[in-house]
Amino acid sequence: MKTLRHALCAVNKSSQQKDDKSMIHHSSISKRASGLKASMTLEISALAQELRKSGKNICSLSAGEPDFDTPDFIVEATKKALEDGITRYGPAAGDPLLRGAIANKLTTINKVHSTKENILITNGGKQAIFNLFQILLDPGDEVLIPSPYWLSYPEITRFAQGKPIFIETSPESGFTLDVDKIELAISPKTKLLILNSPCNPTGKVMKLKELQAIVELLRRHPNIYVVSDEIYEFLISEKEQHISIAQLAEDIKDRIFIVNGFAKAWAMTGWRVGYLHGNETTIKKAIALQSQSTSNVCSFAQKGALAAIQEKPTGIDYMISSYNKRRVMLIKGLKEIDKLLVYQQSGAFYAFPKLINEMPDSLSFCKTALEQEGLAMIPGIAFGQDRCIRLSCSVSDETIIDGIERLKRLVDKLKK
Ligand code: GLU
Repeated sequence: MKTLRHALCAVNKSSQQKDDKSMIHHSSISKRASGLKASMTLEISALAQELRKSGKNICSLSAGEPDFDTPDFIVEATKKALEDGITRYGPAAGDPLLRGAIANKLTTINKVHSTKENILITNGGKQAIFNLFQILLDPGDEVLIPSPYWLSYPEITRFAQGKPIFIETSPESGFTLDVDKIELAISPKTKLLILNSPCNPTGKVMKLKELQAIVELLRRHPNIYVVSDEIYEFLISEKEQHISIAQLAEDIKDRIFIVNGFAKAWAMTGWRVGYLHGNETTIKKAIALQSQSTSNVCSFAQKGALAAIQEKPTGIDYMISSYNKRRVMLIKGLKEIDKLLVYQQSGAFYAFPKLINEMPDSLSFCKTALEQEGLAMIPGIAFGQDRCIRLSCSVSDETIIDGIERLKRLVDKLKK
């Protein structure tokens, strides 16, 4: 069992790998893979669990994972699939019934016309992005990534030999994406723009006007494609509305890809079922890649996903309203802590407060929090914003209260 100090060092080391120019290029590792670092969100969540198992009193607000169990009707449909012998290879593109049901959901709920030929079932949303980038990017192609960003976007870009170009947004402006800044960052090498609304880690939900401005930008730049990561689509405050950019732009729909999955809304993180929606030509290539890499996504897990997507949308309301209440509770608690600046979050299940200047950087702050208070959070540096920290509210009310108390104690100690 790792000691606390060793474990923290391991996380710290992995977070620094990318920038460590002196890192030895081991001859057995390809150049492409040598800079690849492990996902810090997954690492810190696993570390918190490991420390808890070893008997430490840990309060973890780190995991971006629902704390609900997968609903029974999904589990039952999957058991039935196993009993019915759905245990063999299926089409690489995915179960045609599931592809059709997703196309139907996109057409009716999101108002994005889709058929099953536009859909690839993937091993979670992450693999949808991975496959797409392998298909679209040539070496040196630039990918515009609004920052703060979900930490896998730059890694997946680099692994596909693309170049991430970050578009800064600030906590002070509510993490609003400035279209002029995007336009300034465009070069002849720009291939892709990533959108993520509701956003992990900021919780920002893009408004109609912001999306319309991006549609106009895309019309001015006909060589740029968009990936719209909508994995938190349903995790949104009652006051907000999720809008897919694809529903606003029929004329450029072939340049827009949607990534989504079952993990967050249906509490199915371990099932690994996601999907990619896009133009048929690209989807066909992504299917070819899948047939040469992972083959089909687990056959009976797809039957669970089919049951999920065929259920009435209200079937997950109890989880959504619970996250909404807990998000409000977490933010209220954080606002009462001196030395943190807290911005309103209206989507996903995170808070992303800013540490005021006299506090240390986000990695040192989170290390001290884990060492001294047993409080696990994700340092904002993992998402490109070193003055912020990410806390998840997909935990019990008691855990949120406990986490806030530990955080307050830490801030009080640090400000002395
Ligand atoms: N997306 C979640 C998070 O940000 C799960 C971990 C991951 O895949 O990065 O915490």
